Amino acid sequence: MESRKVDIVIKVSKYCNLRCTYCYEFPDLGNKHKMSTQDFAAIARNIYNYYQKCDFNVCINFIWHGGEPLLVHPDFYYEMFEIQKKIFCTHVTCTNTMQTNLTVLDEARIQLIKDLDLRIGVSIDLVDSVRVYKSGKESQSKVLKNMDILHEHGIHFGCIVVLNKNTLGREKEVFDFFYSTKTSFSVLPLFPAAFDTQLDEIAVSNSEIIQSLRKFAQLYNACEKKIGISPITDFFSIIESMEKKDPVEFYDKEEWCPVILVNTNGDYQGYGDPYGSSEYIYGNLIHDTFDQPMFGSQNYSKSLREAKKRIAYNCVNCKYFGYCDGYYIAEVQYDNVTNSSLIKICEVTKMTLTNIEEIIVESQFITGVDYL
Ligand code: SF4
Repeated sequence: MESRKVDIVIKVSKYCNLRCTYCYEFPDLGNKHKMSTQDFAAIARNIYNYYQKCDFNVCINFIWHGGEPLLVHPDFYYEMFEIQKKIFCTHVTCTNTMQTNLTVLDEARIQLIKDLDLRIGVSIDLVDSVRVYKSGKESQSKVLKNMDILHEHGIHFGCIVVLNKNTLGREKEVFDFFYSTKTSFSVLPLFPAAFDTQLDEIAVSNSEIIQSLRKFAQLYNACEKKIGISPITDFFSIIESMEKKDPVEFYDKEEWCPVILVNTNGDYQGYGDPYGSSEYIYGNLIHDTFDQPMFGSQNYSKSLREAKKRIAYNCVNCKYFGYCDGYYIAEVQYDNVTNSSLIKICEVTKMTLTNIEEIIVESQFITGVDYL
C-alpha cells in the first residue's frame, strides 16, 4: 500500500536559555508557557482523525521545536508518548524528532532520547559568534562536548547550520568538521527578522548565498564518499534526474501539504506561510477539527493561491521545472527574505542548480570522463 509522510512541527514552548542573534522567536524567548499534555492530546486526536480517512498509510513525524524543547521536563514527553501510543495505529503511525540547541543534556534527557527513539537535530553554526547565552557567553563549546556525549551513547543526529555573514569564506571548515564526524547537515537560510535591525550585522545577499552554496556543492562533489548536505544533495539529484530525463511530479500543496506548523496555542499554518501572521493561520488544532477550518478557511485558500502564484511566476519558464518539483519556491525560501514580498524570485535555487551543472561538467572534464 502507498505510504506518505507529513512533518508536524510542534512549538512546544518558546522558552530558551540562548539568545541567538538571528532567532525569529527572539521577543518570546523568556516566555515559560508550554503546551499542556491535554492540548497535545487534542491536537494528536485531530491529526489522527483527519489522516485516518486517507486510503493509504500515513506516517506523521512530530518535530518538537521551540524555544529549546529539552528545557521542557522529560515527564511531558513520556506522557506525550503514551498519548501517541493510544491514538496512532498501523494505518497512521508516528515518529518523533527534536530540534535542539543541545546545551542542556543530562542523564534523564539521554535516557529520554533513547526511550522514545527520538531523532535529533542539533543547531550549531561552527563559525559561531551569534549562538550565545543570555549573558552573551558563547554556547558552542558546550554543544560540541554534548555532541561527543551523544556519540558515546551511540545516538545518531544531524545538524543545522544557519547561513549568515560569519559562514562566508569558512565553508571548508564547516564541511570538514561534519565530514570527519560523518554527520549529515542542512544549510538553512536566515528567517525573516523578528524586529527591525535584528539581522543588520549578519544578513547575506543573494549573491553571497549563491557563492556559499556553490562552495558547499564543490566540497560535496569532490568527495568520493558522501554525507548528506541539504539542500545540496537534493539539488544534485535534480540535475541527475534531468540528465536521465526522469521527471518528477509537480508540487501541489492542495493535494498534499507535507509540513504543518503548530504553534504553542494550537494555531496551525503551512511551512511556507509568513510565520505567526494571523492572515495565514488556517485554524486551531486544539479547539477545531483539522479538516474543517483547513479546507473552509480563507487563510488556507489564500496560502494555496500564493504558493501556486509563486510556482506560476517562477517555474513555468524555468528549465529545471519537471525535475525540480517547484517546492523550493512554493515553500522554502533560500533567497534573502529579510525584505519579504509575496512574489518571490527563485534566484538562489536556480543559480545553485546552474552552478551544480557546471561543477559536474568541470569535474568530469578533470577526471577525463567523456560527455557529449
Ligand atoms: S528552480 Fe525554482 S523556478 Fe525552477 S522549477 Fe525549481 S522552484 Fe521553480
